[in-house]
Amino acid sequence: MIEIHTPHAPPSDPADLKLAQRSVQFSGQTEPTLLEIPGFENYACNQCHQSDDLFDRAEKRITNVLARLKSLSPESGTVPLKQYIIQPWAGPLLSAQQYAHATFDAIRLFPRTILVDQYVYDNNTHLHEILHLTQTFLGHANELEAYSLNAQEDARFLLLNFPYFENSVSAFYIKDFKNILEEYFARPVDDGFVPREVQWYINDFDPDKINKVAVSIEKMDPILKKAAQLNREFPLQSAYLSEQTGIPSLMLDMAAVQVMELPEITLPQETQDKAYALLEEQMNKTDNILLGYIINRKDEALLHMRYTLNISDPAQRLALYFHYLKQWKIKPDGTINFSIPLHLKDYVEKKLKQIDRLLEYRGISTLEKAGGERFKKRIQEELQKIATTSP
Ligand SMILES: [Zn+2]
Ligand SMILES: [Zn+2]
Repeated sequence: MIEIHTPHAPPSDPADLKLAQRSVQFSGQTEPTLLEIPGFENYACNQCHQSDDLFDRAEKRITNVLARLKSLSPESGTVPLKQYIIQPWAGPLLSAQQYAHATFDAIRLFPRTILVDQYVYDNNTHLHEILHLTQTFLGHANELEAYSLNAQEDARFLLLNFPYFENSVSAFYIKDFKNILEEYFARPVDDGFVPREVQWYINDFDPDKINKVAVSIEKMDPILKKAAQLNREFPLQSAYLSEQTGIPSLMLDMAAVQVMELPEITLPQETQDKAYALLEEQMNKTDNILLGYIINRKDEALLHMRYTLNISDPAQRLALYFHYLKQWKIKPDGTINFSIPLHLKDYVEKKLKQIDRLLEYRGISTLEKAGGERFKKRIQEELQKIATTSP
Protein backbone atom coordinates (compact mmCIF):
# COMPACT_ATOMS: atom_id res chain seq x y z
CA MET A 1 0.00 0.00 0.00
CA ILE A 2 2.87 2.33 0.76
CA GLU A 3 4.30 1.55 -2.65
CA ILE A 4 1.26 2.81 -4.58
CA HIS A 5 1.15 5.91 -2.37
CA THR A 6 4.69 7.12 -3.06
CA PRO A 7 4.75 10.91 -3.62
CA HIS A 8 4.35 11.98 -7.25
CA ALA A 9 6.26 14.55 -9.28
CA PRO A 10 5.18 18.12 -8.50
CA PRO A 11 2.62 19.85 -10.73
CA SER A 12 3.94 22.49 -13.11
CA ASP A 13 1.67 24.96 -11.35
CA PRO A 14 -0.07 24.01 -8.09
CA ALA A 15 -2.67 26.71 -8.81
CA ASP A 16 -3.97 24.69 -11.78
CA LEU A 17 -4.88 21.68 -9.67
CA LYS A 18 -8.45 20.83 -8.87
CA LEU A 19 -9.12 20.77 -5.18
CA ALA A 20 -11.22 18.49 -3.01
CA GLN A 21 -12.13 20.45 0.10
CA ARG A 22 -14.14 20.41 3.32
CA SER A 23 -14.39 22.93 6.13
CA VAL A 24 -14.68 21.53 9.66
CA GLN A 25 -15.24 23.21 13.00
CA PHE A 26 -13.36 21.06 15.50
CA SER A 27 -14.48 21.21 19.09
CA GLY A 28 -12.34 23.53 21.21
CA GLN A 29 -10.95 25.31 18.14
CA THR A 30 -11.60 29.01 17.68
CA GLU A 31 -11.71 28.81 13.89
CA PRO A 32 -12.71 26.18 11.34
CA THR A 33 -10.09 24.03 9.62
CA LEU A 34 -9.98 23.52 5.85
CA LEU A 35 -9.27 19.93 4.87
CA GLU A 36 -7.89 19.79 1.35
CA ILE A 37 -6.58 17.38 -1.24
CA PRO A 38 -5.11 19.44 -4.08
CA GLY A 39 -4.88 17.42 -7.28
CA PHE A 40 -7.33 14.78 -6.04
CA GLU A 41 -8.33 14.11 -9.66
CA ASN A 42 -5.09 15.18 -11.36
CA TYR A 43 -3.18 12.54 -9.40
CA ALA A 44 -5.96 10.00 -9.87
CA CYS A 45 -6.68 9.59 -6.16
CA ASN A 46 -10.35 9.59 -7.20
CA GLN A 47 -9.94 6.28 -9.03
CA CYS A 48 -9.79 4.42 -5.70
CA HIS A 49 -11.12 6.92 -3.17
CA GLN A 50 -14.14 9.05 -2.39
CA SER A 51 -12.99 12.40 -1.07
CA ASP A 52 -15.82 12.35 1.49
CA ASP A 53 -14.52 9.13 2.95
CA LEU A 54 -10.96 10.49 3.17
CA PHE A 55 -12.22 13.66 4.84
CA ASP A 56 -14.36 11.68 7.31
CA ARG A 57 -11.26 9.78 8.35
CA ALA A 58 -9.16 12.95 8.53
CA GLU A 59 -11.79 14.50 10.81
CA LYS A 60 -11.59 11.54 13.16
CA ARG A 61 -7.78 11.63 13.25
CA ILE A 62 -7.61 15.34 13.92
CA THR A 63 -10.30 15.19 16.61
CA ASN A 64 -8.33 12.38 18.24
CA VAL A 65 -4.92 14.08 18.20
CA LEU A 66 -6.26 17.46 19.34
CA ALA A 67 -7.68 15.70 22.40
CA ARG A 68 -4.42 13.82 22.98
CA LEU A 69 -2.36 16.99 22.78
CA LYS A 70 -4.67 18.67 25.23
CA SER A 71 -4.21 15.91 27.78
CA LEU A 72 -0.45 15.42 27.22
CA SER A 73 0.47 19.09 27.01
CA PRO A 74 -2.37 21.34 28.20
CA GLU A 75 0.12 24.23 28.42
CA SER A 76 0.39 24.28 24.62
CA GLY A 77 -2.98 26.04 24.38
CA THR A 78 -5.11 26.32 21.26
CA VAL A 79 -3.71 24.91 18.06
CA PRO A 80 -3.74 27.26 15.07
CA LEU A 81 -4.72 24.58 12.58
CA LYS A 82 -6.44 26.42 9.75
CA GLN A 83 -5.54 24.07 6.96
CA TYR A 84 -4.81 20.35 6.64
CA ILE A 85 -3.41 19.52 3.24
CA ILE A 86 -3.07 15.97 1.96
CA GLN A 87 -0.45 16.49 -0.72
CA PRO A 88 0.02 13.76 -3.35
CA TRP A 89 3.32 15.19 -4.67
CA ALA A 90 6.73 16.07 -3.25
CA GLY A 91 7.94 19.66 -3.56
CA PRO A 92 9.71 22.43 -1.67
CA LEU A 93 6.99 22.74 0.99
CA LEU A 94 6.98 18.99 1.65
CA SER A 95 9.98 17.06 0.42
CA ALA A 96 10.09 13.33 -0.31
CA GLN A 97 12.30 12.70 2.77
CA GLN A 98 9.76 14.27 5.10
CA TYR A 99 6.68 12.63 6.54
CA ALA A 100 4.84 15.85 7.11
CA HIS A 101 5.53 19.55 7.46
CA ALA A 102 3.88 21.94 9.86
CA THR A 103 4.19 25.15 7.87
CA PHE A 104 2.20 28.12 9.20
CA ASP A 105 -1.24 27.39 10.63
CA ALA A 106 -1.19 24.41 8.29
CA ILE A 107 -0.02 20.83 8.09
CA ARG A 108 1.01 19.25 4.82
CA LEU A 109 1.36 15.51 4.62
CA PHE A 110 1.59 12.73 2.06
CA PRO A 111 -0.99 9.98 1.61
CA ARG A 112 1.67 7.44 2.64
CA THR A 113 2.24 9.34 5.90
CA ILE A 114 -1.41 8.85 6.70
CA LEU A 115 -1.07 5.12 6.06
CA VAL A 116 2.01 4.79 8.28
CA ASP A 117 0.34 6.86 10.96
CA GLN A 118 -2.85 4.84 10.80
CA TYR A 119 -1.35 1.35 10.70
CA VAL A 120 1.94 1.74 12.56
CA TYR A 121 2.50 4.98 14.48
CA ASP A 122 -0.93 5.40 16.05
CA ASN A 123 -1.12 8.92 14.58
CA ASN A 124 2.02 10.09 16.32
CA THR A 125 3.16 12.04 13.27
CA HIS A 126 -0.10 13.97 13.48
CA LEU A 127 0.44 14.60 17.18
CA HIS A 128 4.02 15.75 16.52
CA GLU A 129 3.05 18.19 13.76
CA ILE A 130 0.08 19.58 15.63
CA LEU A 131 2.34 20.43 18.55
CA HIS A 132 4.70 22.19 16.13
CA LEU A 133 1.87 24.56 15.17
CA THR A 134 1.74 25.84 18.75
CA GLN A 135 5.48 26.62 18.97
CA THR A 136 6.93 30.11 18.74
CA PHE A 137 10.21 29.55 16.94
CA LEU A 138 12.27 26.88 15.17
CA GLY A 139 15.01 24.34 15.70
CA HIS A 140 16.21 21.50 17.94
CA ALA A 141 14.28 22.56 21.03
CA ASN A 142 11.02 22.27 19.06
CA GLU A 143 11.88 18.79 17.85
CA LEU A 144 12.90 17.77 21.35
CA GLU A 145 9.52 18.88 22.66
CA ALA A 146 7.61 17.12 19.88
CA TYR A 147 9.57 13.86 20.10
CA SER A 148 9.09 13.92 23.87
CA LEU A 149 5.34 13.70 23.32
CA ASN A 150 5.87 10.82 20.90
CA ALA A 151 8.18 9.06 23.37
CA GLN A 152 5.60 9.39 26.11
CA GLU A 153 3.09 7.72 23.80
CA ASP A 154 5.46 4.90 22.82
CA ALA A 155 9.00 4.20 24.04
CA ARG A 156 10.08 3.16 20.55
CA PHE A 157 9.95 6.81 19.49
CA LEU A 158 12.63 7.59 22.05
CA LEU A 159 14.84 4.90 20.55
CA LEU A 160 14.26 6.10 16.98
CA ASN A 161 15.01 9.69 17.96
CA PHE A 162 17.77 8.92 20.45
CA PRO A 163 19.95 12.01 19.77
CA TYR A 164 17.37 14.06 21.68
CA PHE A 165 17.43 11.81 24.74
CA GLU A 166 20.60 9.75 24.85
CA ASN A 167 22.70 11.96 27.17
CA SER A 168 20.11 12.25 29.91
CA VAL A 169 18.92 8.65 29.67
CA SER A 170 22.50 7.30 29.90
CA ALA A 171 23.55 9.60 32.72
CA PHE A 172 20.47 9.36 34.94
CA TYR A 173 18.27 6.39 34.05
CA ILE A 174 19.79 3.50 32.07
CA LYS A 175 23.54 3.06 32.42
CA ASP A 176 23.84 0.67 29.47
CA PHE A 177 21.53 2.64 27.18
CA LYS A 178 24.20 2.71 24.47
CA ASN A 179 24.04 -1.10 24.26
CA ILE A 180 20.27 -1.04 23.89
CA LEU A 181 20.61 1.48 21.06
CA GLU A 182 23.26 -0.58 19.32
CA GLU A 183 21.07 -3.67 19.48
CA TYR A 184 18.02 -1.74 18.35
CA PHE A 185 19.66 -0.45 15.19
CA ALA A 186 21.66 -3.61 14.50
CA ARG A 187 18.47 -5.35 13.37
CA PRO A 188 18.44 -5.70 9.59
CA VAL A 189 16.12 -3.57 7.47
CA ASP A 190 15.57 -3.63 3.73
CA ASP A 191 15.69 -0.78 1.24
CA GLY A 192 12.14 -1.23 -0.03
CA PHE A 193 9.28 1.23 0.04
CA VAL A 194 8.81 1.03 3.78
CA PRO A 195 11.09 3.62 5.41
CA ARG A 196 13.84 2.14 7.59
CA GLU A 197 12.62 3.79 10.78
CA VAL A 198 9.18 2.26 10.25
CA GLN A 199 10.79 -1.18 9.91
CA TRP A 200 12.81 -0.69 13.11
CA TYR A 201 9.65 0.42 14.82
CA ILE A 202 7.49 -2.57 13.86
CA ASN A 203 10.08 -5.34 13.78
CA ASP A 204 10.48 -7.43 16.92
CA PHE A 205 12.74 -6.18 19.67
CA ASP A 206 13.36 -7.50 23.18
CA PRO A 207 10.21 -6.45 25.09
CA ASP A 208 12.13 -6.26 28.38
CA LYS A 209 14.39 -3.61 26.92
CA ILE A 210 11.50 -1.63 25.45
CA ASN A 211 9.87 -1.82 28.85
CA LYS A 212 13.02 -0.61 30.56
CA VAL A 213 13.00 2.44 28.30
CA ALA A 214 9.27 2.98 28.91
CA VAL A 215 9.82 2.92 32.67
CA SER A 216 12.59 5.49 32.38
CA ILE A 217 10.35 7.74 30.26
CA GLU A 218 7.83 7.74 33.09
CA LYS A 219 10.55 8.71 35.53
CA MET A 220 11.74 11.41 33.14
CA ASP A 221 8.37 13.13 33.18
CA PRO A 222 9.54 16.11 35.31
CA ILE A 223 12.54 16.85 33.10
CA LEU A 224 10.59 16.37 29.86
CA LYS A 225 8.02 18.85 31.17
CA LYS A 226 10.72 21.25 32.30
CA ALA A 227 12.45 21.17 28.90
CA ALA A 228 9.13 21.85 27.16
CA GLN A 229 8.45 24.71 29.54
CA LEU A 230 11.87 26.25 28.84
CA ASN A 231 11.15 26.09 25.12
CA ARG A 232 7.80 27.79 25.62
CA GLU A 233 9.14 30.51 27.90
CA PHE A 234 12.48 31.12 26.19
CA PRO A 235 11.97 29.95 22.61
CA LEU A 236 14.65 32.10 20.98
CA GLN A 237 17.34 31.43 23.57
CA SER A 238 16.56 27.71 23.64
CA ALA A 239 16.91 27.49 19.87
CA TYR A 240 20.02 29.63 19.87
CA LEU A 241 21.90 27.69 22.53
CA SER A 242 20.92 24.36 20.97
CA GLU A 243 22.23 25.53 17.62
CA GLN A 244 25.39 27.15 19.01
CA THR A 245 26.34 23.92 20.75
CA GLY A 246 24.94 21.64 18.03
CA ILE A 247 23.45 19.48 20.79
CA PRO A 248 19.89 18.41 19.89
CA SER A 249 19.18 17.42 23.50
CA LEU A 250 20.63 20.55 25.12
CA MET A 251 17.40 21.81 26.70
CA LEU A 252 16.60 18.38 28.11
CA ASP A 253 20.13 18.08 29.48
CA MET A 254 19.79 21.53 31.09
CA ALA A 255 16.44 20.56 32.58
CA ALA A 256 18.04 17.39 33.97
CA VAL A 257 20.80 19.43 35.59
CA GLN A 258 18.16 21.61 37.25
CA VAL A 259 16.16 18.68 38.59
CA MET A 260 18.46 15.68 39.08
CA GLU A 261 21.30 14.90 41.42
CA LEU A 262 24.42 14.83 39.24
CA PRO A 263 26.49 11.66 38.89
CA GLU A 264 29.63 11.61 41.00
CA ILE A 265 33.01 12.33 39.44
CA THR A 266 35.91 10.28 40.77
CA LEU A 267 38.70 11.66 38.57
CA PRO A 268 41.63 13.66 40.01
CA GLN A 269 40.92 17.39 40.27
CA GLU A 270 43.62 18.21 37.75
CA THR A 271 42.00 16.01 35.10
CA GLN A 272 38.60 17.51 35.88
CA ASP A 273 39.94 21.03 35.45
CA LYS A 274 41.41 20.14 32.08
CA ALA A 275 38.13 18.57 31.00
CA TYR A 276 36.17 21.66 32.03
CA ALA A 277 38.59 23.84 30.08
CA LEU A 278 37.95 21.68 27.01
CA LEU A 279 34.20 21.95 27.45
CA GLU A 280 34.45 25.68 28.04
CA GLU A 281 36.28 26.12 24.77
CA GLN A 282 33.93 23.93 22.75
CA MET A 283 30.58 24.99 24.20
CA ASN A 284 31.23 28.68 23.70
CA LYS A 285 32.31 28.45 20.07
CA THR A 286 29.92 30.32 17.82
CA ASP A 287 30.91 28.81 14.47
CA ASN A 288 27.71 26.77 14.31
CA ILE A 289 25.77 30.04 14.46
CA LEU A 290 28.01 32.23 12.34
CA LEU A 291 29.32 29.79 9.77
CA GLY A 292 26.41 27.38 9.76
CA TYR A 293 28.47 24.33 10.79
CA ILE A 294 26.68 21.53 12.52
CA ILE A 295 29.35 20.33 14.90
CA ASN A 296 28.12 18.75 18.12
CA ARG A 297 30.32 20.51 20.68
CA LYS A 298 29.62 17.97 23.41
CA ASP A 299 30.75 15.09 21.17
CA GLU A 300 33.80 17.11 20.20
CA ALA A 301 34.73 17.80 23.83
CA LEU A 302 34.13 14.19 24.87
CA LEU A 303 36.35 12.97 22.06
CA HIS A 304 39.20 15.18 23.28
CA MET A 305 38.62 14.00 26.84
CA ARG A 306 39.05 10.47 25.66
CA TYR A 307 42.07 10.84 23.42
CA THR A 308 43.87 13.89 24.80
CA LEU A 309 43.10 13.49 28.51
CA ASN A 310 42.83 9.68 28.42
CA ILE A 311 39.60 9.59 30.39
CA SER A 312 38.61 6.05 29.52
CA ASP A 313 35.26 5.71 31.31
CA PRO A 314 32.42 7.01 29.08
CA ALA A 315 30.17 7.51 32.11
CA GLN A 316 32.75 9.83 33.68
CA ARG A 317 33.11 11.80 30.45
CA LEU A 318 29.34 12.24 30.29
CA ALA A 319 29.21 13.18 33.98
CA LEU A 320 31.77 15.92 33.30
CA TYR A 321 29.49 17.30 30.58
CA PHE A 322 26.57 17.54 32.99
CA HIS A 323 28.68 19.10 35.74
CA TYR A 324 29.94 21.59 33.21
CA LEU A 325 26.38 22.51 32.14
CA LYS A 326 25.67 23.37 35.75
CA GLN A 327 28.66 25.70 36.00
CA TRP A 328 27.95 27.11 32.56
CA LYS A 329 24.31 28.14 32.70
CA ILE A 330 22.70 27.39 36.04
CA LYS A 331 22.45 30.36 38.40
CA PRO A 332 22.84 29.92 42.18
CA ASP A 333 19.04 30.08 42.55
CA GLY A 334 18.72 27.05 40.24
CA THR A 335 17.28 28.90 37.24
CA ILE A 336 18.96 29.05 33.86
CA ASN A 337 21.09 32.00 32.90
CA PHE A 338 19.58 33.08 29.60
CA SER A 339 21.53 36.33 29.28
CA ILE A 340 21.34 37.61 25.70
CA PRO A 341 23.88 35.87 23.51
CA LEU A 342 26.00 38.25 21.46
CA HIS A 343 24.69 37.09 18.09
CA LEU A 344 21.06 36.42 19.02
CA LYS A 345 19.61 39.27 16.99
CA ASP A 346 21.53 38.36 13.83
CA TYR A 347 20.63 34.73 14.30
CA VAL A 348 16.92 35.44 14.64
CA GLU A 349 16.97 37.80 11.69
CA LYS A 350 18.64 35.16 9.56
CA LYS A 351 15.85 32.74 10.48
CA LEU A 352 13.22 35.37 9.65
CA LYS A 353 14.75 35.68 6.19
CA GLN A 354 14.52 31.91 5.76
CA ILE A 355 10.84 32.13 6.65
CA ASP A 356 10.42 34.86 4.03
CA ARG A 357 11.92 32.57 1.42
CA LEU A 358 9.50 29.81 2.37
CA LEU A 359 6.59 32.24 2.11
CA GLU A 360 7.61 33.07 -1.44
CA TYR A 361 7.37 29.50 -2.70
CA ARG A 362 4.82 28.98 -5.40
CA GLY A 363 2.02 26.85 -4.06
CA ILE A 364 2.04 28.27 -0.55
CA SER A 365 -1.56 28.98 0.38
CA THR A 366 -3.14 32.28 1.36
CA LEU A 367 -3.79 30.93 4.85
CA GLU A 368 -0.17 29.81 5.17
CA LYS A 369 1.06 33.23 4.07
CA ALA A 370 -1.09 34.97 6.65
CA GLY A 371 0.01 32.44 9.26
CA GLY A 372 3.65 33.00 8.32
CA GLU A 373 3.32 36.75 8.75
CA ARG A 374 1.78 36.26 12.17
CA PHE A 375 4.52 33.77 13.08
CA LYS A 376 7.19 36.30 12.11
CA LYS A 377 5.50 39.09 14.01
CA ARG A 378 5.39 36.99 17.17
CA ILE A 379 9.11 36.20 16.83
CA GLN A 380 9.92 39.89 16.38
CA GLU A 381 7.88 40.71 19.49
CA GLU A 382 9.72 38.00 21.40
CA LEU A 383 13.06 39.45 20.31
CA GLN A 384 11.90 42.91 21.36
CA LYS A 385 10.79 41.59 24.73
CA ILE A 386 14.18 39.97 25.37
CA ALA A 387 16.02 43.14 24.39
CA THR A 388 13.99 45.25 26.82
CA THR A 389 13.77 42.88 29.80
CA SER A 390 17.27 41.39 29.92
CA PRO A 391 19.96 43.22 31.85
ZN1 LIG B 1 -5.10 5.51 -1.97
ZN1 LIG C 1 9.24 17.86 13.94
